Amino acid sequence: MITVAESDLEVPGSEREAILSMRDLKVHFNTEDGVVKAVDGLSFDLVRGRTLGIVGESGSGKSVATMAVLGLHNRARTTLGGQILFEGTDLAGADEATMQRFRGKRISMIFQDPLTALSPYYTVGDQIMETYRRHTGANRKRARARAIEMLAKVGIPQPERRVDEYPHQFSGGMRQRAMIAIALCCDPDLLIADEPTTALDVTVQAQILDLLRELQTEFDTAIILITHDMGVVAQMADDVLVMYAGRCVERGTVREVLQQPRHPYSWGLLSSIPQLGGEVDLPLTPVRGAPPSLIDVPSGCPFHPRCDFVDRVGGGHCASERPQIGSATGRGVACHLTDGDAERIFIDEIRPRLGGGKA
Ligand code: SF4
Repeated sequence: MITVAESDLEVPGSEREAILSMRDLKVHFNTEDGVVKAVDGLSFDLVRGRTLGIVGESGSGKSVATMAVLGLHNRARTTLGGQILFEGTDLAGADEATMQRFRGKRISMIFQDPLTALSPYYTVGDQIMETYRRHTGANRKRARARAIEMLAKVGIPQPERRVDEYPHQFSGGMRQRAMIAIALCCDPDLLIADEPTTALDVTVQAQILDLLRELQTEFDTAIILITHDMGVVAQMADDVLVMYAGRCVERGTVREVLQQPRHPYSWGLLSSIPQLGGEVDLPLTPVRGAPPSLIDVPSGCPFHPRCDFVDRVGGGHCASERPQIGSATGRGVACHLTDGDAERIFIDEIRPRLGGGKA
């Protein structure tokens, strides 16, 4: 079983007012082959100082949903529905001028690959200074001091010298730290981290995650962490949202989703990764099949062609009726299994696979 740290079990601040409320977000792309429903009715709340981990296979809609928060979608080819309420402003309907006021200052993003996200033509310091000056109006001297301060904060040694170096002179871990420095230089209220450690080796990954947590505590930042790595989720997230075919299929606190998962897709994700402390010869069980086309999403429950538990739900409901997740926030599971059946299946059949044994 994936272990969640004791300190993560009770998360203060969950009663605070949401800084970001997504309500029934739809992001549809018009293509020559048809309408791609990349996100199709996503809702969640996120409060300051808290981290929401969004997990799912490639193409599940997790990156597209967060790109919409920043208004980085192609407006000409995209139909946006629902609401993205950031402190009361609906970003789903905002024009580019409005988005520019939020992007980089109130809402920042760390991209997966710092080498492609950083420009090779400018020094690291110039890239931090440009972001800082654009959003604060600071002069060059003040911006340079801020760049050095931020490089020191993210653990770059000799920041006074490194500020004048180019990205190719930084190691992979240092480049990602530089990206974090750029993202946090304006003290954003919301930080979106899209697979921030995927390109890094595990020791550097641990350092970057520690750094993000430290900076989150210092700045009281809300974080959306997009990842396919359940280990990263266990380490970083307070809440977890599992996406499949553009929809949320399970949502809850990190303890609920990782230790008492109720959706067959979540079971599949957890069964397909090695469990720390589990039996060494415990076989991994991948989710069979492939994610569906988002142009032609299966009827009923979109997961039903890949689900091993369809026959536990009577009446053929899985193939004909779309399960709903219920309320927009809090614990939710989009599955026709009853709570009792899901709990029994998890305890008797899934948990032993995860190395947890029967109750
Ligand atoms: Fe499986 Fe049916 Fe639940 Fe979908 S609704 S996850 S097909 S049991």
